[in-house]
Amino acid sequence: MKHGGSDLQHATIDALSRLRPQAEAAWGAIQQSLDPLIRLVSPHIESGTTWIDAHLGGLLPWQIAAVTTVTVLLLAWLSQLVLTAIAELKEAGVLQSLFEVIKSLPGIRGIVQRENAKMLVKIRASINKGNGVSQEQYLELPKNGMAADEVKARLQSRGKRDVAFEEGYSRVSGTLYLMGEEHCRMLNDVYASFSHTNPMHADVFPSVRQMELEVVAMTAAMLGGGPSGDPDVCGAMTSGGTESILTAVKASRDYMRARKGIRRPEMIVGQSAHAAFFKAAEYFNVKLVKVPVGNDYRVSAAAVARAMTRNTVLVVASSPCFPHGVIDDVSGIAALARKRGVCCHVDACLGGFVLPFARAAGYPVPPFDFSVPGVTSMSVDTHKFGMAHKGTSVVLYRSKDIRRHQYTRVTEWSGGLYISPGFAGSRSGALISTAWASMMHQGLQGYVKLTDQMMKAARHFAEGVKAIEGLELAGDPAMTVVAFKATNARKLNIYAVNDALSARGWHLNALQLPPALHMCFTAQHASIVEPLLKDLRECVEDLQSGGEHVKDGMAPVYGLASVSPDRNIIGEFLVAYQDVLLSG
Ligand SMILES: *Cc1c(COP(=O)(O)O)cnc(C)c1O
Repeated sequence: MKHGGSDLQHATIDALSRLRPQAEAAWGAIQQSLDPLIRLVSPHIESGTTWIDAHLGGLLPWQIAAVTTVTVLLLAWLSQLVLTAIAELKEAGVLQSLFEVIKSLPGIRGIVQRENAKMLVKIRASINKGNGVSQEQYLELPKNGMAADEVKARLQSRGKRDVAFEEGYSRVSGTLYLMGEEHCRMLNDVYASFSHTNPMHADVFPSVRQMELEVVAMTAAMLGGGPSGDPDVCGAMTSGGTESILTAVKASRDYMRARKGIRRPEMIVGQSAHAAFFKAAEYFNVKLVKVPVGNDYRVSAAAVARAMTRNTVLVVASSPCFPHGVIDDVSGIAALARKRGVCCHVDACLGGFVLPFARAAGYPVPPFDFSVPGVTSMSVDTHKFGMAHKGTSVVLYRSKDIRRHQYTRVTEWSGGLYISPGFAGSRSGALISTAWASMMHQGLQGYVKLTDQMMKAARHFAEGVKAIEGLELAGDPAMTVVAFKATNARKLNIYAVNDALSARGWHLNALQLPPALHMCFTAQHASIVEPLLKDLRECVEDLQSGGEHVKDGMAPVYGLASVSPDRNIIGEFLVAYQDVLLSG
């Protein structure tokens, strides 16, 4: 930082001394208001001590021991209460508010603003380095339309700047799930045939309506619904995992309101639950209650039980979670939800099109779907391992009673009587057709075969990571997501490892709480395990023997994020980053 430490100190002391009279006045007011209370309780405290004198005098030693033990336990319990209260204050943002007050102090405010401006310049430079917008920009409509061939040519040239993929050799974690030239060509053809359709007009496009209900039925039948499971399981298609989660949270909230009249809804999620639940809480005014994961990175029923209140409407389990690829205690959490009469969502966005097939291929998979009593909804992404186009996912419910709460009906609109199943009005029938086509083309055997390959790749990688000095797995991977961290974070900065891998053309996911990385294996990774392990081994060895960190990498940002208690600063960084992405 350019600003000398003494400048900053002076500004702080200056500002604080100006605040002092107000602080003293406030403290006086607090004391005054507490005064009557103190006068009320102090005689009792005094009579309490005489009571102890009078009563303990005649007791036998063992009785005194018993009394003191009970007293100590009581005190411990009381102090626990106080600690919980402090934790709650922290959660309610008192700590954050303190940071905000400090940052708004005259003198400091200017510094913060200047630092933010510098940060923005840096972010813009780092995004635009190599991957920025092209020289040729169109920020207004061209006056005369471009010929179709020219439009296509320009787009093709833009596409050349994206990361190039070679079938089976993707160097990017997750992201690319489609596999096989034939499969991709088929999806594109199907898309083209239905690109004009919209399921909102079921009378005009009955074909799309049928595709949607069949995709939902086939998905349900894979996951404990359908003829061989619970035939009441039903659902709808959405635009993606996030929308499936948002939709399920909204439906669960309104279902519980109708059933139990809960008006201040809370939902319990693990620290590892997908960010979409945080978004749902924000959008739908549901209080998000986060519980920590265990040493195995899984959310346990005991942790959820501790967080339950009268206002709980929904508890969440992931199958598996995005960060560590482990499956939460679905049976325990769902049983708890059932006992307490609340909803339980299983997020199988990632696992829905892997776990049933992994089980069929002989891998151990715990119960994780509608076969578990108490599970009331699930999210399952056709656009991930279902291998359909991006923009498709399925949300499933235990019964129509819950699903109806995701609908919006409007009976008093001059535009007519209106009912819509989810967030969107008009939707793309073409996307629905790609999901249908993908599922029909792969079939059970196709998915099982691909899953077996991915599972083998993930296990191979996990074994390789275990053999690298300085690394350890973060959780026992349940399927194709393998997370790992430094055995000793002081000796090896895992984010620097990520930067070094990025410099070699790999794109892994950076995780936090604790610092870690993960690789999500898809059908595109069959041939990259050994090259990835080799690069990983070399990067770790280099850094451990004092190798330099990559310049302008992300490690400093993640490093700051992992230690700073001021989460708003990190949040502001994210906002600035998003602003740059959207505005060039
Ligand atoms: C990908 C994912 C989601 C959300 O997915 P989008 O399709 O990106 O909206 C939700 N949960 C898990 C576990 C995921 O992996």
